[in-house]
Amino acid sequence: MKVPLLDLKAQYASIKREIDNALIRAAESQHFILGPEVERLEKSLAGLLGCKYAVGVSSGTDALLIALMALDIKPGDEVIVPTFSFFATAGVVARLNAIPVFADIDPVTFNVDPNDLERRISLKTKVIIPVHLYGQSADMDPIMEIAAKHSLKVVEDAAQAIGAQYRDGCRVGTIGDIGCFSFFPSKNLGGFGDGGLVVTNNDDLAERLRILRVHGGKPKYYHKVIGGNFRLDAIQAAVLNVKLRYLDAWSEKRRENAALYSELFIQSGLAEKEGVTAFDSQNVVLLPEAVYKNAGYRDYHIYNQYVIRVQKRDEIREYLTNSGIGTEIYYPVPFHRQECFAYLNCSDSDYPHSNFASEHSLALPIYPELSAEQITYVVECVSDFVSKDSAEATQSHKEGMLT
Ligand SMILES: *Cc1c(COP(=O)(O)O)cnc(C)c1O
Repeated sequence: MKVPLLDLKAQYASIKREIDNALIRAAESQHFILGPEVERLEKSLAGLLGCKYAVGVSSGTDALLIALMALDIKPGDEVIVPTFSFFATAGVVARLNAIPVFADIDPVTFNVDPNDLERRISLKTKVIIPVHLYGQSADMDPIMEIAAKHSLKVVEDAAQAIGAQYRDGCRVGTIGDIGCFSFFPSKNLGGFGDGGLVVTNNDDLAERLRILRVHGGKPKYYHKVIGGNFRLDAIQAAVLNVKLRYLDAWSEKRRENAALYSELFIQSGLAEKEGVTAFDSQNVVLLPEAVYKNAGYRDYHIYNQYVIRVQKRDEIREYLTNSGIGTEIYYPVPFHRQECFAYLNCSDSDYPHSNFASEHSLALPIYPELSAEQITYVVECVSDFVSKDSAEATQSHKEGMLT
């Protein structure tokens, strides 16, 4: 059986007619950049997320970049980011000649650890960027408290978490000063190319974001500030306006798939029910939502990724690949270990949880169109690997005793 990591053709097939019509409408309008389709998308998303302003931009990376520009981040300013995230979270900081300061993650949720974050604040710190990794909210209450205490701004990297909720139903991205989203094709709401969104409840920031999106010109050709070309294409908005209608149902299906995985991992004896956060002789799989319940979270996780923690991660991954199953490692190298950030002279031992995560995480296929048979097959393959592996271990132990 084949189980790809993601199957966008299956999604397209399910809504082909609507998408094709939207593409034709976009072609016939010959309106290519910003315009009515983008405005419609911005309005719908502001409504769905429950915020005052939504501004469509060219990518999730540019959403982060324009957010920092709107907050007037200058060379030498410090911005705190988790060391365990997609590269863009740190890359945008360095591109403004500001200094990325890395914080370790919580070993349970893999989101930034608020305590570790606080001890890295200096007089130069201006912004904190929590990331809602894999589609699960970071712990925003303590982060917002710390930010208020030190007069820092908060930019949420919600690229993987559109529609996810924190605590009482608050949508992520709307809690900090600016929220950033990505429409990269593999995200829960993915376009037919690059795209992104910034959201805010602040009138002045919304105005700044709109001006920075078009090179900082307002009126056109008169520049008080230097912006860039951060515009969203109409054709992307046309596709996203169709897909938006299905977003909640798709996220719900991802959650059902996650629940089935976890149930099967527990049934097969590979994982334990209650939030187990360390390996022992019994479990070889640590489940994302077991740990999430254990932490007392009541958040709405949208499972952009279903990431288990396993021993012998690279061997299991190879076994799954050979069995026709697509997997991925998000992320194999934390920022403090990246060559391009060697100049920051970070101490590796300062980041034990991120190091652990980078060595043990494995993302399994979780997309909405997966069948129960496919999920069952993935769990069976992990189980097969574990049985073969322990049989081999017993065999070599016996041989060791004989010699
Ligand atoms: C995808 C992603 C981004 C960047 O989004 P792009 O649209 O690919 O530029 C930023 N941060 C995180 C956490 C992401 O997953």
